[in-house]
Amino acid sequence: AISIFWFRRDLRLNDNAGLYHALKGPNPVLPLFIFDSEILDKLADKDDARVSFIYKTVEALQGQLKHHHSSILVKHARPYQAWAEVLDQYNVTAVYTNHDYEPYAATRDGELKTFFAAKGIAFNTYKDQVIFEKNEVVKDDQKPYTVFTPYKRKWYDKLKPFYLKPYPTEKYLDNLFKTNAFDTPTLKQLGFVETKTAFPPIAYVNIINHYAERRDFPAVEGTSHIGLHLRFGTESIRQLAHDANLAIEKTWLNELIWREFYMMVLYHFPNTATHAFKPDYEGIKWRNNEHEFKAWCDGQTGYPLVDAGMRQLNQTGYMHNRVRMVTASFLSKHLLIDWRWGENYFARKLLDYEMASNVGGWQWAAGCGTDAAPYFRVFSPELQLKKFDPQLQYIKKWVPEYADFGKYPKPIVDHAFARDRCLKAFKEALSK
Ligand code: FAD
Repeated sequence: AISIFWFRRDLRLNDNAGLYHALKGPNPVLPLFIFDSEILDKLADKDDARVSFIYKTVEALQGQLKHHHSSILVKHARPYQAWAEVLDQYNVTAVYTNHDYEPYAATRDGELKTFFAAKGIAFNTYKDQVIFEKNEVVKDDQKPYTVFTPYKRKWYDKLKPFYLKPYPTEKYLDNLFKTNAFDTPTLKQLGFVETKTAFPPIAYVNIINHYAERRDFPAVEGTSHIGLHLRFGTESIRQLAHDANLAIEKTWLNELIWREFYMMVLYHFPNTATHAFKPDYEGIKWRNNEHEFKAWCDGQTGYPLVDAGMRQLNQTGYMHNRVRMVTASFLSKHLLIDWRWGENYFARKLLDYEMASNVGGWQWAAGCGTDAAPYFRVFSPELQLKKFDPQLQYIKKWVPEYADFGKYPKPIVDHAFARDRCLKAFKEALSK
């Protein structure tokens, strides 16, 4: 009999909660990874960088597991199909995995739990990708928080060294199931080609102590680019939060708490993935002009900060947080295009795409989320540029033709006009 550890978005051997518990269990542990065709088939780009990243990471894990005479069984199928094959092939008594809070994953895991139970297989799941999950940080009346600051206060109140301690997974790797290396399907067999995008290294230590003064300037390398590694679990949140908590300056840790806040919100309010948290805002009459949307996607709006951000996103899979706020506000407020269009576009392009944070960020910008900026606060892209890129370094990098007035497009819409139009549309929706 064997146990299976199902890797999902926790692609590391060290400090991995579910893997640790599996290895401490009674049976040898066979690692499994499923390239879920349900998810892959929906991806628009055959050179999707996230698929390449996962692929490379799984290959690296294969290399590490070889040292322990083990291997990851890699499947490419819908989860049910993959599991049916695995259970046909092996005598499995328990499955271990880590929690995933996204609506698709929660439904999938709920159904699999029933499926396993019917076969007498234990399905053991663990918290791994956050310090606090689900109902661990709630109000005194047990209801979820919908405002960040009191949530953060409670989060800090609850924090004990125990929660930041690593799981010493590496001590137990001898309990892996011994096997020759399995074949991994090629990227081509999965239907993808390798991306040209470069992946950021794990390098946050020097960021933390200067974070507060540098984080807002998109031309400065002042943020960690750790999002991708958090998304796929190539770095442990316990390690990050531990290091961040040692710093005197807590701004960076607070950002990690924002991530948990949004995950908690999505867990409690899964319909906010596609609907405004504030129902009144569902009535906004979006203009949804396709040409304007395309200009926004392509970084051709005639607002240099918006265009620079979109081009950075298109070319690197990353956009600086300040500019994410400006581009998102511009789309939803200046152009009155449904925030879901923008959310989808970011979902397609961002290396660090995280449904909870992306939806949270978009709804914040559109004014319709938990803890949102009030709708009447409309960023001026020009003022934002003056404040956060006064020397135009970021602009020169991403919009080099900006200096050449002949080549750079005129603003797609006048700021004052767009602001009035936005206020009217929001007021109308909210007065109903
Ligand atoms: P750092 O500034 O170094 O922060 C470290 C980590 O803290 C981040 O990697 C992230 O995990 C977390 N974090 C930081 N800021 C936030 C925040 N505001 N909300 C939630 N978590 C945060 N973040 C994503 O991880 N995925 C997304 O898909 C995403 N979409 C966004 C969309 C919009 C419209 C906006 C306004 C923000 C979005 N964010 C998203 C939040 C934030 O912009 C990114 O986390 C950050 O820019 C990533 O860069 P970094 O890794 O260098 O972050």
